[in-house]
Amino acid sequence: MKILDSGGSALDAVEAGVMVIEADEKNTSVGIGGAPDRDGRVTLDACIMAPDGSCGSVCALEHIAHPISVARRVMEKTPHVILVGDGALEFALSQGFKKENLLTEESKKAWEEWKKTSKYEPVINVEMHDTIGMITIDKNGDIAGACTTSGLAYKMQGRVGDSPIIGAGMYVDNEVGGAAATGLGEAVIRAVGSFLVVELMRNGRSPQAACEEAVARVVKKYKDYKNIQVGFIAVNKDGETGGFSIHKGFSYAVFSNGKNEVKEGTYLIE
Ligand code: ASP
Repeated sequence: MKILDSGGSALDAVEAGVMVIEADEKNTSVGIGGAPDRDGRVTLDACIMAPDGSCGSVCALEHIAHPISVARRVMEKTPHVILVGDGALEFALSQGFKKENLLTEESKKAWEEWKKTSKYEPVINVEMHDTIGMITIDKNGDIAGACTTSGLAYKMQGRVGDSPIIGAGMYVDNEVGGAAATGLGEAVIRAVGSFLVVELMRNGRSPQAACEEAVARVVKKYKDYKNIQVGFIAVNKDGETGGFSIHKGFSYAVFSNGKNEVKEGTYLIE
């Protein structure tokens, strides 16, 4: 908000905004301190999208604390949209990013505990997975979006979720609005969730109604939906917002006119 208030761009603001969470070691589902995969490797996914439709993404990136900034470099400095794994890391290092250990003592301990049973079961709203998705609108009315996560805790090596997939984890159309997703990526991808929310807004739905319809679509395509969580946030060009999830417990923040408000999203199932 400091960037936006001082007339900065939606793109700069959205990158800086999610970097706060990426740097928070206590958060176990984004950036440093994020839960590792089942082999103990912290692999991060992130994507960013600018008002002109350009976008960048990194998947399964290791050792770099701010994957969102690498995603932005992919967008701005390469002819590509997505870089994965070793290629993404090599590119990041060539851009001056520093290699860091992202596995904190605490997340290492939790992983070692998990290994005792190796039971793979993402639990609804318990920190086995989470993401930060953010959409910003600047003083010119331009819209940008970002999404960054360590994905599902103890996932298979190489697993990539919805979060770095443009259209699934996040999508922006500067004429319409933007949306971002959280929850089980495997379910979000089936519905190309964030793109769907934006298209529904283009066709006249409010952000809230668009999020509700997108959750309905996810549910239709995922038999076991009662045992997973998926949630969407959306904002339209007029700054109206919405948020909806399958289960209770999905909250999101709206910062507007100098006021930061945490809202409890509405949901499908109690
Ligand atoms: N969507 C993320 C993923 O599937 C996880 C989450 O948001 O909870 O990697």
